[in-house]
Parts: sequence; structure tokens; C-alpha cells
Amino acid sequence: MMEKLSNEDLQRRFHDVEENLKVIRENIAEAAARAGKSASDITLLAATKTVPVEVINHSIELGVDHIGENRVQELNEKYESYNLERCELHFIGHLQLNKVKYLIGRVAMIQSVDSEKLAAEISRLSAKKGVTTDVLLEVNIGKEPNKSGVMPELLPELVEKVSLLPNIRVRGLMAIPPANASETETMNFFLRMNQYFVDIKHKKTDNVSMDWLSMGMSADYTQAILAGANLVRVGTALYGPRIYVKKH
Ligand SMILES: *Cc1c(COP(=O)(O)O)cnc(C)c1O
Repeated sequence: MMEKLSNEDLQRRFHDVEENLKVIRENIAEAAARAGKSASDITLLAATKTVPVEVINHSIELGVDHIGENRVQELNEKYESYNLERCELHFIGHLQLNKVKYLIGRVAMIQSVDSEKLAAEISRLSAKKGVTTDVLLEVNIGKEPNKSGVMPELLPELVEKVSLLPNIRVRGLMAIPPANASETETMNFFLRMNQYFVDIKHKKTDNVSMDWLSMGMSADYTQAILAGANLVRVGTALYGPRIYVKKH
């Protein structure tokens, strides 16, 4: 699942991450300015799937203060090795009910809540642990079959239902537009997400604070920022192409 790197490879990866991070920070600053914001209004979350912990921790040393894993098993394997003193760990992938227990009290936010059932399980286990878990509601903005996320028309109802649960707090929305969408279509999906975000914010539901609009990945994070995103999840552009290694 994860790469094992020689020392020489590691040094090269460290160097690449430094260069890539500079470019990403510049792009973020430029897009933020175009959106009438400052760079500090935009949070970069490093998407760390398949990335060795040494490389992740190097990016944290360089100032990355949000990281996100999308598989529970991989998060479990890496958990003890992350340097999380100055960095928040988020969960950003599809989450099964029976895996929730591994995340409660460990992650600062679960970005991928898309059903009342999942929210209820997060609520139940958080109460048991005496913590409150911050979540984003994931929207299937392209209405793709077989994809995670609540359908847009069911979003208001989900917001209401989750707002009534104890020990869980809705902090915003997350979306991944269809992979095959054109640049214009992607922009329209982002703009629609921003509209939902603003609409829900204006409703001022108890226990719901629309602080985070999480959208945009390596290919489209500047577009997402232009459309209102304040949290972008970047993997490949920071760490290079993912190398999946079979487990023995
Ligand atoms: C992998 C991943 C990303 C980052 O994707 P890149 O295209 O590599 O930047 C963002 N969000 C989620 C949920 C992911 O799983």
C-alpha cells in the first residue's frame, strides 16, 4: 500500500515536495487574490494516500498544517508516525459504519459524511468517548451513480437531521466533481456548491456552522478557489504521482 524508499529516494522526494509546495502556495495566493481574498483565507490540505510518512512529515515541517487520508486501514497503519503537533489530520474518503470507531478522537474532521446513518454512528461513538466530532457533508454534486455523497436535493434534509444529533457538528461542505467533466462544467459544479454553502449558512441552523467549503484537487484547485472554496485538497501536485504497492 505504501512505498518503501531508500535514503537517496527520500532526499529526492523531500526536494520535490519543497519545490511543489512553493508553486502550490503561489497558485493559491494568486487565485485567492483574484477571488478578493488573501492567501491566509485558503487552507491547503495535503491528500496523503500512498505517501510514506517520512515524506508527509517533511511536508508538515515545511508548514503544511492539514493532512487528509482516505482509507481507514492506511490511516491506522500510519497514525502513530504522523507528526501531528502542529497539523490536523482529516478523513476524506468513503467511510463504512463499522470503521467509524477507528477515527473518533483521532481525526480533527471527517469530510465525507453523506448519510444520516453515518452521522448517527459518529454521534453515538463520539458521545461514548466524550468528544464532539467536526464533519463536512459530502455532496454528490455531479449526481453520479455509485459515487459517495448526498444527492443535492437531499442536502437540506440531511443538514437538518445531523444538526439534531449530539456530539457531532457540521462545519461545512465537501465535493468532488465528476472526473470527466470539462473545465466549464467543473466550474459550474463548484459554483453550485458555493450556492448551497451560502444558502445553508444563511439559514443559521443550530449546531451548523458553514466554515469550510472543501473542493478542488490537483487539477482544479485554483478554479475551486475562484468559486469560493476555502479548503483545497491537493495530492499529486504536491507529492507527485501515486505509486500503489501491493502488500505481501
Ligand atoms: C486523493 C484525493 C484528493 C487529491 O487528489 P489529487 O488529484 O491527487 O490532488 C482529494 N480529495 C480526495 C477525497 C482524495 O481522495
